[in-house]
Amino acid sequence: MPTTRSSSTRRPRAKRSSREAPPPSVGFVSLGCPKALVDSERIVTQLRAEGYLIAPNYGDSDLVIVNTCGFIDDAVAESLDAIGEALAENGKVIVTGCLGARSGADGANLVTQVHPKVLAVTGPHATEEVMAHVHAHLPKPHDPFTDLVPDAGIKLTPRHYAYLKISEGCNHRCSFCIIPSMRGDLVSRPIGDVVREAGTLLAGGVKELLVISQDTSAYGVDQKYRTGFVDGRPVRTRMLELVRELGALAATHDAWVRLHYVYPYPHVDEVVALMGQDGVLPYLDVPFQHAHPRILKLMKRPASGEKNIERIRAWRAAVPDITVRSTFIAGFPGETEAEFDYLLDFLREAELDRVGCFAYSPVEGAGANQLPGTLPDEVREERRARFMQLQAGISARRLRRFVGREMRVLVDGVEQQDTGAVALGRTAMDAPEIDGVVRFTGSGRLPIGGFVRVRITGSDEHDLQGEMIE
Ligand code: SF4
Repeated sequence: MPTTRSSSTRRPRAKRSSREAPPPSVGFVSLGCPKALVDSERIVTQLRAEGYLIAPNYGDSDLVIVNTCGFIDDAVAESLDAIGEALAENGKVIVTGCLGARSGADGANLVTQVHPKVLAVTGPHATEEVMAHVHAHLPKPHDPFTDLVPDAGIKLTPRHYAYLKISEGCNHRCSFCIIPSMRGDLVSRPIGDVVREAGTLLAGGVKELLVISQDTSAYGVDQKYRTGFVDGRPVRTRMLELVRELGALAATHDAWVRLHYVYPYPHVDEVVALMGQDGVLPYLDVPFQHAHPRILKLMKRPASGEKNIERIRAWRAAVPDITVRSTFIAGFPGETEAEFDYLLDFLREAELDRVGCFAYSPVEGAGANQLPGTLPDEVREERRARFMQLQAGISARRLRRFVGREMRVLVDGVEQQDTGAVALGRTAMDAPEIDGVVRFTGSGRLPIGGFVRVRITGSDEHDLQGEMIE
């Protein structure tokens, strides 16, 4: 091999019985600059951690990884030669690195144009993607500990829905919140990793992906929306592209994607345009928290200058059945009765579909604790109750329009009532745990974790009732 920086990492093999197969071996060719070398080290480390051996030559390798350079013409030629040599000597080749991200004159991937027989191609900084290709072509050695764990990992949710975390931390400094001081600034996960995790979950039977973060609209800001790789394709690290990828993937598994914690930045309008297509649900969880400009300013809320009523109208014009969910805080320090009334007026006008409201509660270490005008507990609680009472009427009115319609329902389980068992499920309008449910009857087989069609026969403040269509 031209450059096998890691071949000397082979350790003496542990004694094994004659019937036990030797661990799979991977050959590694590392070309390019120190950044590429670090990528190589990461991949080799991961291979060793998973029990693969690093082979010193093509003959002892079950598969070869070539980490390429695409900087200047000579480097491109050297990389293409190395791939050709590995293909000729071994035949099973995965290509990673800078050359993997380059396109030829016609826009197609340069490596696959020259060497169509390579097993897979990724760009640089793609350890997880490379490992996924290795797993696909050279299964992992058996590990008695980790092999007890399913590919999708251990989930604490029911088998048919899963939370998909796309980033950690937050760049905002809302005065009532201490998350940034605990978890730091926004760090977005690589788009390839997120989409791959989504694929594993969907392949494991998940029918609803709940996208979560502290600020989903900000996905990729910290990465300057850099181009990542999804299955070797260049894709920008940005909310719009991520939702498009997840929606397309979900559609191939007949599954849903639901977006949470979306701040109403202007680019969200482009995401709304994807809703109702592929697997992207027409559902937006937008935590407004308040409506009065002075309180929003005191809260230091992101996107507080947006004209939210106009935005909601525009979203509904674009996607008539969109569900807009939000959360609010009543009784923030210094909130006057007039400012609270302003919030109630906003609620009347916005006619949100799903709403949660909390009475303000100080969190130790939060900046809002220093604000003047702390309201007594009873006032905060009374405002919360008034807010929820108003919303109950709005919600009941909005739900009534579904009576008589036929809706797609994801079946969560069965509830025992005095009159017997009733099936429980959720429509596109309902996130698990926080929104409403559909209670329905029917005599057919009930596919828990699957979809059924339900004719809606009744509604109340939060939930729907119906009959399964056989
Ligand atoms: S409440 Fe504000 S600061 Fe806290 S996580 Fe959400 S956006 Fe970030």
